[in-house]
Amino acid sequence: MIEIIKKNKLLTAVSLAYVFLFMAMPDKAYLSVKNSMYYIIEMLEIMPVIFILTSIIEAWVPKEVIINGFGEKAGIKGIIFSFLLGSFSAGPIYAAFPICKMLLKKGASIANVVIILSAWAVIKVPMLANEAKFLGPNFMGLRWILTVMSILIISYLMTVFVKKEDIPIGEEKSLSKATGIDIKEQYCIGCGLCEKLMPQHFKVIDKKAKWKESTLNDTQINELKAIIDKCPVKAIDFR
Ligand code: SF4
Repeated sequence: MIEIIKKNKLLTAVSLAYVFLFMAMPDKAYLSVKNSMYYIIEMLEIMPVIFILTSIIEAWVPKEVIINGFGEKAGIKGIIFSFLLGSFSAGPIYAAFPICKMLLKKGASIANVVIILSAWAVIKVPMLANEAKFLGPNFMGLRWILTVMSILIISYLMTVFVKKEDIPIGEEKSLSKATGIDIKEQYCIGCGLCEKLMPQHFKVIDKKAKWKESTLNDTQINELKAIIDKCPVKAIDFR
């Protein structure tokens, strides 16, 4: 129970807040639950489509396309693509988060993801037309220019303060950068599969696999990837 609470701190805090609110101000609590239900239903309607879209892009769009369009070296092209993607997107801002996570994972830069998120939030094209209609084209134009400038500054600052490693995107670690292999002996059952497939690197002693060397060429890295997948108890990791 304590473990579940630890894993869901935010949910626990919100639930407790609701309990206190129901005891202290039941009318406000009821209103709050009603509003929450509205947003939950809205999310349930939108998020499945976003997850399907994200999965399709993740599976079908090659990594190189994302790197070329939105990566560190995409330059002005990346900035323009990011503004266009954010400005022409539909849906609430929370729909942008899984898409941006997928883009980061596939090689988009932090700066371009910040541009996409910010443009998604504040410069939607249909909204610009509405803004011009109600507040005038000059107001809209000037606000748009200043907003774009602010987004560019924020995107630069984000790259200074945030590194990709700080973001939990589940990016695959590069095995070529591995300094060694970590074998969790407590899990190893000594089946000998790793030794059989890579005898020059693994040796099973007393029913526990041991790593013999730490440097690998590209072919060996691929062999190691296969062994990591095949290990029946997932005892092999890299660091
Ligand atoms: S394949 Fe996995 S379980 Fe089998 S010996 Fe190697 S590390 Fe241990």
